[in-house]
Amino acid sequence: MKENKRKSEDNGSLKPISTTKDWKLLYFEPGRPGLEEGRKFKGLCSYCELIDICVLPKPDTGVWRCQYYKAAARKKTNLYENVLKQLEKAEDIVHFDRDICKILAETMNELVVHFPVKMDDGRVKVLTGYRVQHNNALGPFKGGLRFHPLVDIDEIRALATLMTWKTAISNIPFGGAKGGIQLDPSDFTKEELERITRRFTFALGNNIGPDYDIPAPDVNTNPQIMAWILDTYMSTVTPTERNRSIHVVTGKPIESGGSQGRNKATGQGIVFLIEKWAKDHGFNLKGATYMVQGFGNVGSWAARLMKKHGSRLIAVEDVTGAILNKEGIDADDLAKYVMEHGGVRGYLKAQPIGHETFMTTKADIFIPAALENQITSETAELLNVKLIAEGANGPTTPEGDKVLLRRGIDVIPDILCNSGGVIVSYFEWLQNKRSEFWDMREVDHKLHKMIVNAYERVRDAARKYKVDMRTAAQIVAISRLEMVYKERGIFP
Ligand code: NAD
Repeated sequence: MKENKRKSEDNGSLKPISTTKDWKLLYFEPGRPGLEEGRKFKGLCSYCELIDICVLPKPDTGVWRCQYYKAAARKKTNLYENVLKQLEKAEDIVHFDRDICKILAETMNELVVHFPVKMDDGRVKVLTGYRVQHNNALGPFKGGLRFHPLVDIDEIRALATLMTWKTAISNIPFGGAKGGIQLDPSDFTKEELERITRRFTFALGNNIGPDYDIPAPDVNTNPQIMAWILDTYMSTVTPTERNRSIHVVTGKPIESGGSQGRNKATGQGIVFLIEKWAKDHGFNLKGATYMVQGFGNVGSWAARLMKKHGSRLIAVEDVTGAILNKEGIDADDLAKYVMEHGGVRGYLKAQPIGHETFMTTKADIFIPAALENQITSETAELLNVKLIAEGANGPTTPEGDKVLLRRGIDVIPDILCNSGGVIVSYFEWLQNKRSEFWDMREVDHKLHKMIVNAYERVRDAARKYKVDMRTAAQIVAISRLEMVYKERGIFP
C-alpha cells in the first residue's frame, strides 16, 4: 500500500502499438512522449483486461510493458485446475474413498460481493470481493485475504482448497478458506483502502466470525488491514459480543491482540524446514547461496532469517525488477530499502538483471515467495538450484513439477513449506480465546515442533508410497480428512 498516493492518471487516448504472440500483452514504444517510466494511465491490457496500466521497461530489451504482464501471462495456467490435478494424483496412488474425494473436489460456499466505496474526491467506485470456504470438517474456515488486480473466483477457490490441505497436514483444528478484493492497492490512498476494507468486511457480514471463518493477511494485506477488519466486525456485533470477537482475524498488530512472531511466521517456518532438509541431506547451510522471488512479508523474512546460518542471498526478484550480487546481498538492508522505495528496483548494492537471468542464476536454494505459476515446464528447465522451498502458494505448475522431478531438484511443497503462517495464526487465535500472551521464544519453540512434525509425516509418507514430497503432502492431508469423514459419516 502506498500511503496517500493518488490514483492513475487518465491519459485516455493512448493505444497499444503491438502485442506479442506469446504474451498477448500491451507493449509500448520506448521513450514515447507521455510514457515516462512508472507513469500510470488508463489502457486495456488485451490479455488480462486490466484497466490501469503502469509503464515499466523490460530490462533486457528496453521495450515497455504492462506492470502485471508476468502474472497475467501465467494466469493462462489455471491454478484451480492444477490443485484438482494434484488431488487426482494422490487419489490414484492411495485409492481414497471416492465419495470423500468428490466432496473435497468442491468448495462448500462461495461468496462474491460487489460493494460501493466513496473515494477521496467524492466519486463512488464499485469493487468486487470474494470469500470462498472450501471445507470445515476439521474446524472453522481459515485463510488469508488478498488484494490484487488479478484476483478472481478461480484463484480464490484454488487458494481456499490449498488452505484445507495445509491445515490438515499441520494437525491444527481449522478448515480452509480464502478471500480477496480485485484491486491494485497502489491506486488508492490509505484512507480509501481503509474504507474499502471496512466496507468489504461489512459486506461479508456473518459469513466470517471468530469461531466460523477467520481471515488473515496475504498478498498486499497486512496487520493494519486486519486491525480495520477487527474494528469493523466488533462495531457490528452487540456490545456483549465485542470482546468475544477479537479472534475474528489473525495477523493483527500486537497491541490489537496479535501474536508475537506472527509477522515473521511464514518466513520462519520456511527457514525451519530448510534447516530440517539440510540436516536430512547432510547439507551445510554455512556458505550456501540462495535466491528469493518476492520480497514482501514471506520472502523478506525468509531471506533475513537465513542470515543466521551464514548463507548468502545472491539474487532477488519482485514486481519492480530483479537484482544480483554474487558477493551477497544484506537482506536486512534490502528490506529497509524496499520499505522506503516500494521494491528492489534501484537498489545500488546489486546489479539489475532481467527475469531470465534471475531464473538461471546458480544457487543452492530458491525460495519463490511471490505469486502462483512461476515455475512452469519452461522455467523449471532454466533453474540451477538444489532445493526449492515454496513460500508462495502454487508457485509450481504440474508440468513444472515433472521437470523438477526429472532434474532431481528437491521441493518442499507450498502446503507444507509456508504453513508457518497458519500455525502461528492458530497460536494467535488460541491466545485470544484464552486471554493469554506468549513470548517469542514460546511461539518459535511451538512453531518449530509443529512444522518439523508435519515435515516428518510428509517425508515418511514420501518414503512409504515412493512418491515426491508434494504428492506425499497431499496424501497426508487427504488421509486426515478421510479419517474424519469416515468416523462422522455424511449427514443425514
Ligand atoms: P506480499 O504482498 O507481502 O509480497 C508479495 C511479493 O511478491 C512482493 O515483493 C511483490 O513485489 C512480489 N511480486 C508480486 N508479483 C510479482 C511478479 N509478477 N513477479 C515477481 N514478484 C512479484 O505478500 P506475502 O504475504 O509475502 O505473500 C507472498 C506469497 O506467499 C503468496 O503466494 C501468499 O499466498 C503466500 N503466503 C503468504 C502467507 C503470509 O503469512 N503472508 C502465508 C502463506 C503463504
